[in-house]
Amino acid sequence: MVDIPLMYLLIFIAGLCIGSFLNVVVLRLQKEEDFVRGRSYCPHCKHSLKWFDLIPVVSFLMLKGTCRYCGKKISVQYPLLELATGCIFLLVFFFSPANTIFDLVFLLYIAASLIVIFMYDLKHYLIPDKVLFPAIAVAFACRLLDFNSIFTYVLAALVAAGFFLAIFLASKGRWMGFGDVKLAVLLGLLLGFPAILLCLFLSFLFGAIIGTVLIISNKKGLKSEVPFAPFLIAGASVTLFFGEIIINWYLHFLVF
Ligand SMILES: [Zn+2]
Repeated sequence: MVDIPLMYLLIFIAGLCIGSFLNVVVLRLQKEEDFVRGRSYCPHCKHSLKWFDLIPVVSFLMLKGTCRYCGKKISVQYPLLELATGCIFLLVFFFSPANTIFDLVFLLYIAASLIVIFMYDLKHYLIPDKVLFPAIAVAFACRLLDFNSIFTYVLAALVAAGFFLAIFLASKGRWMGFGDVKLAVLLGLLLGFPAILLCLFLSFLFGAIIGTVLIISNKKGLKSEVPFAPFLIAGASVTLFFGEIIINWYLHFLVF
């Protein structure tokens, strides 16, 4: 039996390494390159990277955020995404409703997919189907395994996707992209009903808060485009990890 602190450390390190791979996925999706094969290289000088340049976070710190070969700055996005993946893997391990190894692997896979979608939408205002569609297929297949609960997940997917489809159609795609409709299907299959409602509420709350901050700080005008997937994913994460606590707290409020 592995002792618990060591277990956490291993999960965190596994998260850092997967995060390093997710950085490559985000970069290569944009260039339509194969992200499973091929060596990693510096985006500036194209010099291929050695194993000691690819140690998550550590290499970035040792090289003070520059490329060993051309000296150009490397985006802080790389170590941040690695650290975020490590932390999210720990959260999944601690707080998620996973009861079996199978559940845990499923949730880690969905988490990794959502991290890529989050980052890609933030950078390019686009949700990559190449990552989203396999995740929807896997989520649907996993939910199919349990006939008792499949209904609540399909209902959640239909409610969430229907909601975004209505906004998409009413605004002719100006307020919400069709990518958000498809992402809503995945989040419904992940969270189920009624948890998806909390996710929708939180994502609009986060969107309103960040939107207001951006407008006040003059970073964005009222009409400028803000990607919505990061808010949806943030809402889904809070719901997955803390949904039960929030709902109990709210019900407690209603009763007393
Ligand atoms: Zn370079």
